Amino acid sequence: MKTIVMKFGGSLLASPHGIGRVADLVVRCGREGSQVVAVVSALGEVTDLLLRAALDAVDNDAKKIDEAIHDLKFIHSSAIEQISVKPDEKWALNRATALALEELKRTLLGVSALGELSPRSRDLILSFGERLSAPILAAEIETRGVRAPTLTGGEAGIVTDRSFGEAVPNAALTNRAVRKSILPRLATGEVPVVTGFIARSTDGEVTTLGRGGSDYTATLLGAALKADEVWIWTDVDGILSADPRIVKGSAPVAKLSYPEAEELAFFGAKNMHPLALGPARTNHIPVRIKNGFRPDFPGTLITDRRTRSEGIIKAVAVVRSVGLLTVAGETLQGRPGIAAKVFSALASAGVNILMISQSVSEANIGMIVRRASLRAAVRALRRELKKEGISVMLESDPRVAVVAAVGAGMRGEKGVAAKVFGAVAARGINVRMIAQGSSEMNISFVVDENDAEEAVRALHSKAVRPRAGKRRR
Ligand code: ADP
Ligand code: ASP
Ligand code: MG
Repeated sequence: MKTIVMKFGGSLLASPHGIGRVADLVVRCGREGSQVVAVVSALGEVTDLLLRAALDAVDNDAKKIDEAIHDLKFIHSSAIEQISVKPDEKWALNRATALALEELKRTLLGVSALGELSPRSRDLILSFGERLSAPILAAEIETRGVRAPTLTGGEAGIVTDRSFGEAVPNAALTNRAVRKSILPRLATGEVPVVTGFIARSTDGEVTTLGRGGSDYTATLLGAALKADEVWIWTDVDGILSADPRIVKGSAPVAKLSYPEAEELAFFGAKNMHPLALGPARTNHIPVRIKNGFRPDFPGTLITDRRTRSEGIIKAVAVVRSVGLLTVAGETLQGRPGIAAKVFSALASAGVNILMISQSVSEANIGMIVRRASLRAAVRALRRELKKEGISVMLESDPRVAVVAAVGAGMRGEKGVAAKVFGAVAARGINVRMIAQGSSEMNISFVVDENDAEEAVRALHSKAVRPRAGKRRR
């Protein structure tokens, strides 16, 4: 019997009759002979709403806290209203929602009283999204005659360290705990409904895996259970050749290898957690990205296999909210070890470097960092390089974006760079920095933020050859 872990995205769950649609998908898969574990996201934009409420709580804005609780009550009671469970069960679900919201309110008031939002409290607050959505789906699955216990990620066995906000799973502990908690339930024909995104630390605190983390929950469970496949159900036809909000004619990519999909996830395609594919890749578990509104469409299949059938560049993606940092000066030239000092200065300030480029003349080093850490990066470099007696010019620009063309078929293929940059130049867009990984699977370049969407469109129209097909919501 096959085991399939299915993750359902917030946009799909929150669509009209989305929960009923998702329950049908789960039950259908079970009737077709598979054991199913369902992983749920928070409904729609609920995680964003919780995040805003947490920040409002720090500002001691009681009115906004009340508004957030009111909105959450409305979102969840509307979802409960739409499902097909009996009235007394609806009452019980509404009651459980109200109790959870009281607990949330107490937590938010605690944050207000302290005037401080610790990463630990932030994770606790964000965990309410999935904790509220999972029981609603479980109840709807049960009306279809299948037992569906609700488990938090922690109860399901996902164990992490204490890096709140982006907690790191402990694979050995997780594998053991997940098997212990989930396998007996599957054996008795139950469909466990697991909250995505949330886990627990080794000392029992609520942690989260980072934004988009429900995809990661699904692959972690899949790896622990040695599942046959992981299916990620969303509201579009798979991973598309570009963000459909930027390129109208973007189309689903039928097949991607894990490294290609990981590159795209990193560049924000489908808002997937950048680490989500790791557990599937390590355990050779195929991942399908499928459209819940069109379940019979095959979507995107991600496996070990490299395929070039869809052209050399399969997709184009863009990372916003980044900044460009340039270190320049004669002192950089011909002095071994300076680059190492620059990078370790940034590392000591906890700044992650997303992209690096250095000219052969060594006259400057360009780096892309998250916009939120740009200031810290400049400060750290000033301080650390001064200590070493190295004088450099530092420039920073917070208004840039990285555009990436991804496809394993670029390797060894001549003329790809010419095609990419020809397409961008033809639209008069200035390229500020270029990098190509030695894997030759991705060409990335930096442009002014205002030019990013046009660059994506230019590249998509000239360099991507999408499969003929429809993109549907
Ligand atoms: P979910 O709620 O299923 O987790 P997300 O909102 O996280 O879904 O991401 C899905 C959305 O990502 C799509 O509706 C689409 O608008 C957007 N998106 C951006 N780039 C891509 C891409 N390359 N492929 C697919 N979707 C993309
Ligand atoms: N609800 C979380 C988020 O919005 C996790 C997820 O949906 O994957 O980031
Ligand atoms: Mg998501």
